[in-house]
This record gives sequence, C-alpha cells and structure tokens, in this order.
Amino acid sequence: MTYEVKSLNEECGLFGVWGHTDASRVTYFGLHALQHRGQEGAGIVANDSGKLNGHRGLGLLSEVFRDDRDIDRLTGNAAIGHVRYATSGNGSIDNIQPFHFKFYDGDFALAHNGNLTNNRTLRKELEQNGAIFHSNSDTEVLMHLIRRSHHPEFCGKVKEALNTVKGGFAYLLMTEDCMIAALDPNGFRPLAIGQMQNGAYVVSSETCAFESLGATFVRDIQPGEIIILNDNGYTIHRYTEDTVLQICSMEFVYFARPDSNIAGVNVHKARKEMGRRLAIENPIEADIVVGVPNSSLSAASGYAEKSGLPYEMGIVKNQYVQRTFIQPTQELREQGVRMKLSAVRSVVEGKRIVLVDDSIVRGTTSRRIVSLLKEAGAKEVHVVISSPPLKYPCFYGIDIQSRRELIAANHSVEEIRQIIGADSLYFLTEEGLINSIGLETTAPYGGLCMAYFNGDYPTPLYDYEEHFQKTMEEHTDFFEVCKAVPQKN
Ligand code: SF4
Repeated sequence: MTYEVKSLNEECGLFGVWGHTDASRVTYFGLHALQHRGQEGAGIVANDSGKLNGHRGLGLLSEVFRDDRDIDRLTGNAAIGHVRYATSGNGSIDNIQPFHFKFYDGDFALAHNGNLTNNRTLRKELEQNGAIFHSNSDTEVLMHLIRRSHHPEFCGKVKEALNTVKGGFAYLLMTEDCMIAALDPNGFRPLAIGQMQNGAYVVSSETCAFESLGATFVRDIQPGEIIILNDNGYTIHRYTEDTVLQICSMEFVYFARPDSNIAGVNVHKARKEMGRRLAIENPIEADIVVGVPNSSLSAASGYAEKSGLPYEMGIVKNQYVQRTFIQPTQELREQGVRMKLSAVRSVVEGKRIVLVDDSIVRGTTSRRIVSLLKEAGAKEVHVVISSPPLKYPCFYGIDIQSRRELIAANHSVEEIRQIIGADSLYFLTEEGLINSIGLETTAPYGGLCMAYFNGDYPTPLYDYEEHFQKTMEEHTDFFEVCKAVPQKN
C-alpha cells in the first residue's frame, strides 16, 4: 500500500553518481526510481571540478525540479541526491537534503537515510562546545563530528565520526574530489553500488534505480563499510569490525520496490514466498484471493498459487491521489465517494474472499478495506497479513515510535479481527517471514531486524531508552478509536 493509505513511512532514499558528464540528470532519474522512499522533499548537489552546487525543495521530485533548467544549472561529473520523508526533524526546507556545507578549506555535501539513536546526546554535547546547527535533522551531527575530529586525514575523520554515531544510517557524502558511501554496523537500510555503461559508478538505496538507468549491479555495501569513489574507481574500507547483519525486515515486507534486490534477494520473490507460506500456515475455504494494491500484490499472488484459489483484481487504487488537497465532505463520503481504493463489484459480489495485506498498523485502513468489500457484496472477507503483528516501535528510521499507535500492541488477534470487521484474521509467523526472505547468513533472525515484531532491538536504544520504557506502559483502546475515526477515504 502507498504511504498515504497506510501511514507507515520510510524515511529516505539516496542516490549518487561519480564519473558521468550529465551527473545531475542521472541523479534525477535515480531519485525518480526511489520516490516511494520519500515524498516530502528532494535535492541534488552536483560537483563541477570541485565546485559544489545544489538545488533542493519541498515536495515530489517533479515539484522541486520543475524543468530542464533546474537540472542544467547543476553542471559537473558527479552528484548526490536525496528524497526525504521526515522522521527526525520537521518538514521545513532547512531539513531537505543533501546538506551543502561550505568551509574555508573546501565544501562537502551530505545525505542520510536512517535515524540516529544517540542524536540528542551528541547534539547537546556539540552545541555546548560551540557547534551551530542549521537544521533540526539528525544528519548534521555527522558533519560536526567530522569537522571536530583531530585525525590528520579526511577518511580517518569520517571513520571516527561513524564510530561515534549510533543507530540506523546509510550516508552519502561528497567532497570536492571524492564521494563516500557508508553503512551502519547492522546494515538496517539497503545501499548498493552499480556501474553505468560509460563506466560511471552509481550508489543507490535500492537496485531498482540501476535498472531504470541501464546500470549493472556491482555489490551491496556491507555493514561497517566505507566505500570511497573517485576518478580512479572505488576502494573499500571499514570503520568497524563490530558488525552483525540485521537488515530491516520491513524493507522486504513493505518499503522497497518489488523490482529491487536486497542482499541478493529479490523483493517480489520474497513477498511471493510470504504469501505461499501464509497459505501453508493458514489454509482458508474461499472463492478468490485479492491483494491490497500495491505492495501486497506479490504476496497475494503467492497465496493464490499455493492455495490453488484464483487470483482476482478485487480492489483498484487511484494512482494520482497523493497530491489532492481537496477532501470530500462527510456527506460525499456517505454517498460513497472514495479517493484511494475502490472495490470491483463484479469481481467480489457474492464471493468468499481471502484478502492479502502486508501489515496492520493502526487497523483503521484494514477496517475501511473490509467494509469496502462487504459494501460491494462480498460474502466473507478473510484477512491474511504477510508479516507478524507489529507490536513495538522502530527507532532506526521509521516513523512509528510509540506502542500507542500500534493496534497489535494493544489488542489480541481476535480483538483486531473484531475491530476490522473481518470473518477471520491470520498473520505470518516470525519464522515464516525469516524463511520467506531466506538470506544466506548465520546472523540472528536470519540477518533481519525483527524488533517491530518482537522488541529485540539489535542495538542499545541510547536516547530512546526512557521513551521506550514509557511507551511500554501506554495503552490505546482501538475499539474506541475506531468509533471516533470517521470513514475517511
Ligand atoms: S524495528 Fe522494524 S522498521 Fe525498524 S528497522 Fe527493525 S524491522 Fe525495520
């Protein structure tokens, strides 16, 4: 499902290129393929023989870069870019990346995907020592740490800074003569290197951007690695050996594009396998299988294939709804005006439906979809979810940081079934999810972060520890919430 329906949001997407005469345009198209990772702002900084120039703004990429002139201005052979969804810092222009820092001894640009768990402590210390911040995003902390390092070499300063920040981070940094990509010691967020036909190297949050540029995949950046790209190609360095692979499992379930590969696993195939395992774990007597567009379609096809039930398009999504500011009135809603999803009456009428969705966050969307299908004449709606119940907050870059917001943290499966109005409700098990993704590793939980489901956080929570303890005591009654929430579109 798209961000505007689910309210479960990815933080950001990174893209960079080194060694292409039209670097900013390549970066634009790379970011275009990553737009699903952030829609609140976008920016590109280009490097023209050591002179950095940038353009950034609020909104979708197409709103920030309105015509060719915005790109043509950003001349040079290298560039980094960013699409943003704000989880740290607010949505003001000050927080739109890449940040472009200007110093007496040279400029650099910086972009970040993730969330630092010790940001508050570091920022306080830095400010007490005279640092001035221009944004309230946690990204700027890295710049101050690099500038304050006493290491004689730039790479050494970056390594020192990376060993000081904690949490989830993928960074792209560009100086006058190189580009640096770095990943946190757990590799929460994906980051990969590709190569274009003319030999230029590209770095992207997701490999789908390589496909759209005709670039070939070179390698994933590993936890604890720093990759330095310059006119001589790229070199691999490490800033720590203390690493444990724990890729965010929600990248596979929901965030990443199905045509991306993460750690060698295709996202569509992993989702399809989740659907197949759901069918094995939860066989249901029904007539058709329907997936919630778009991110649940792969899992729905897997469920249909394994169960032998026909896969049908029982729900369609309006692809153009995200920039609509005019909302229907309550009266129009009551007349059935729905903007995002519609049931296909001729498909669902009189049918017993297995409805496949990727996750349930607050439950309000699931409740809406079930009632949509029932209003269109569905006889039964059995909901199967291709991930385990979301019970714990995320502190590594996703915008759910409180248990209050998660229906499964507050209610049993049977209670959730009642709240969303389904005839039955099943979730994929943790084991089912790990095996569906099937990373080749001996790391715990099959190399995945499963904290959303089991509260086993791969790192100490640092500044969030107190908040986490507090949120464990919070409770929300979603029976009451659902009564209060109007049937929004
Ligand atoms: S807590 Fe959840 S969303 Fe956050 S990194 Fe772990 S699996 Fe991903």
